[in-house]
Order: sequence, then C-alpha cells, then structure tokens
Amino acid sequence: MHQYKRSSELFTEANKYIPGGVNSPVRAFKSVGGTPVFIKKAKGSILTDVDGNEYIDYISSWGPMILGHAYPKVIDAIKAKVEDSTSFGAPTELEIEIAKLIVDMVPNINKVRMVNSGTEACMSAIRVARGYTGRNKFIKFEGCYHGHADSFLIKAGSGASTFGVPNSPGVTPGTANDTLTAKYNNIEDVKQLAAENKGEIAAVIVEAIAGNMGCVLPKKGFLEDLRELCDKEGILLIFDEVMSGFRLGKGGAQEYFGVKADLVTFGKVIGGGMPVGAYAGPDEIMKVVSPVGPVYQAGTLSGNPIAMIAGLTLLKELNENPHYFTELADKTEYLHKGLDKVLSESGFAYKINRCGSMISVFFTDIDVIDFETAATANNDKFPKFFHEMLKRGIYLPPSSFESYFLSNSLTYEMLDKTIQAAK
Ligand code: PLP
Repeated sequence: MHQYKRSSELFTEANKYIPGGVNSPVRAFKSVGGTPVFIKKAKGSILTDVDGNEYIDYISSWGPMILGHAYPKVIDAIKAKVEDSTSFGAPTELEIEIAKLIVDMVPNINKVRMVNSGTEACMSAIRVARGYTGRNKFIKFEGCYHGHADSFLIKAGSGASTFGVPNSPGVTPGTANDTLTAKYNNIEDVKQLAAENKGEIAAVIVEAIAGNMGCVLPKKGFLEDLRELCDKEGILLIFDEVMSGFRLGKGGAQEYFGVKADLVTFGKVIGGGMPVGAYAGPDEIMKVVSPVGPVYQAGTLSGNPIAMIAGLTLLKELNENPHYFTELADKTEYLHKGLDKVLSESGFAYKINRCGSMISVFFTDIDVIDFETAATANNDKFPKFFHEMLKRGIYLPPSSFESYFLSNSLTYEMLDKTIQAAK
C-alpha cells in the first residue's frame, strides 16, 4: 500500500503559507478529503510522488500533456532555448512561427495573438468581440468555464477598468448586467435572450464540447443553430477551445463539427506544458487589436521564447503526426468501454461520458449541470472510488465531474491496469 508521509507534511505546510491550499489539484482535493499527493517527477504517463509512489496519470496537467510528460523533443527544444535567454522582452521569430502553424492547422482564422493562459485568451476574445461590434452584452452557458477571470466576465463586464485604451471610440466598460446566461444545448434559451436584448449582444461564448460539465457533447444541430442565430443577429460566435483545441484533432471543434466560429481561444495543449494561451480570428475581426485600441493587448511575458518553443515543438509534432489523434481516440474509447462495463456491472457509477480524448465518470444522476452543482455533486461513492484508485496507483481528477485527460503515452497495459483497478 502507498504511504503518504512527505505529502502529508507538505500539505500542512501548504495550508500554512499558501491561500486556498496551493494550486490545482489540491484545490479540487477538498471534495475527496484526505491528503493530496505532491508530485516530484513525471515522465510519459507515470507520475512519481514525493514519497516515491508511482501512478498512471489521467490528468495530463489538466490537459496540456497530450503526448505525455517530458516529451523528449519538447524538452530538448526548451533546453536549447534556455541557453539563449529565458525572455528577451523583444519580438521573436518564434511567435510568428507558432501563429503561422496555428493558422495552418485551424480553419477560418488568419490572425493569432499569443497570451499567457486560457483565461487571458477568453478575456481577450470577449474584449475583441466588444471592440468589434461596439456592443457590451454577451451570452455564456451555465456550466461552461472560461477561466478564473470569470469574475470579470460575470460580475464586472469584461475588463471593466482595463478595457482597451480608456475612452477609445466604440468601447464602453461593461457592467454586471452585461452577462446573460443560457442553458447549454438549449437553443430556445439563447433565442429568447437574443430577442430580449436585440442589437445589444456582442458575442456568444461556448465550449463547443462542454468539457467542464463532464464531457457533455453538443446536441445534434445545437452549434449549427447557434451559428445561424449569430449570423442573423450580428452576434459573434466564440468557441472556447482551451480544453478541446488540439485534442479533438488538428482543426479543433470547427473541423470536428463542421461549424464556423468567429473567434477561437486556445490554451493547454498549445503551450507544450508552458503557460501559453492564444486567441484567433479572421483579419476583419482581429483588426480591432492594435497598439492604439480599441483593443490594446500586451503582456510582460507573452510570446516569451521558452514558452513559444515548447508550444511550437509540440504543435509541429501533432501537425506532422495526425495519427496521434486517431491513436488517442482509440485508447480513449478502449478505456471508456472498459470502465463503463466494470462500473455499470458493479452498479457503482451512474454513467460515463466521453468526448474526444476525455472521459468523465458520474456517480450521481446529473446531466447538464451548472458549475456550482458540479462542484458539490460528489456523493460518498466518488471519494471512495478516488482513494481506492489512488492506492492502486491510478491518479484521477479529484472531483467526479472533471474530465480525465488522456495522453498518447498511455499504453494498453496501463489502460488494462486501470480497468482492473476499478473492479
Ligand atoms: N476555458 C476552458 C474551456 C478551460 O477548460 C479553461 C481551464 O481549464 C480555461 C478556459 C482557463 O484556462 P487557464 O486555466 O489556462 O487559465
């Protein structure tokens, strides 16, 4: 059985010095109780904790490590770049190269702006939509997550105080009332909000695949109907692809579902493990991003060479080897089927959702859920399942609605071991 002595000690210290008890997954650990595991090493799909225990990893750093931890080509590229400098604070060729590659891989975009996280990418996309349309309101979906700056989005409008260059033409600060919330997969809800706020809505932002609700797929026609409504009402459609981008396949949700977005946001995979986000769109919309506004964009470390080389190397690898996506999809299906059988036979889990290379195991009878319900939806079964799996060397997300992010470094032996452990 695994021992967690060092992890326990570190947890005590973390609670002493770090508000909220450290970054994820410790934050999410609350829902399962016990001591979170502190990791000191990761290679491929194997994590090693500070007590020397090993685990098969189903978090993949919450998504980014699609080819596994310490992917040799990425590590080599980072090492070589670090020799030059960690940051120049000046333009680099790498930023252009990664933008070019993203334009190449993703349909309907020809301008990409690099930022530091998925949160920042979503914030920026909202600002662009407001700057472009001259409208303030936008629609988001209950349960879809667009980053920890949601407080800006929801409570204060998008970047109320720092929105573009102050007093730029066509730009006014947002307010709390600017955020309208619709039910995911319910187009009638969206239509009603659009009718009630005619001519005032800048954008609809959606996770095309609702990964943050536990891998809920869009119902047939939902994205198409959103597209049609947005076109009719002059509303921009933003796909938040921070989670789904470069996971579903090269072209992301637009290609996967055959629906065009006006703006797309990225994070996670595009950083190759470094903090990188990006937002992208066509010239016509992205032209509002400029040094004189209406949408001003800058970041001290945005586009820094270490982050860029990591992201660029990983994206190139995916671009040149599209079979990785197929292999990953096969492995995800294999795990999905295996867990579904084992857990339904035991009557332990309620259902298992799958989208792309992610799955979510539900232990309660919930379907489309809001984030708050989701955060408290773990019943007694889930913490038990989580801890038993951990003891058996399987590292899962510590709340039942979170997606398991699979990595292509998972072998079928590892998947079998996981299915066996769930028995
Ligand atoms: N958007 C989606 C769909 C996400 O899943 C996340 C993070 O999980 C974000 C935005 C925020 O990205 P980050 O955590 O890089 O700020």
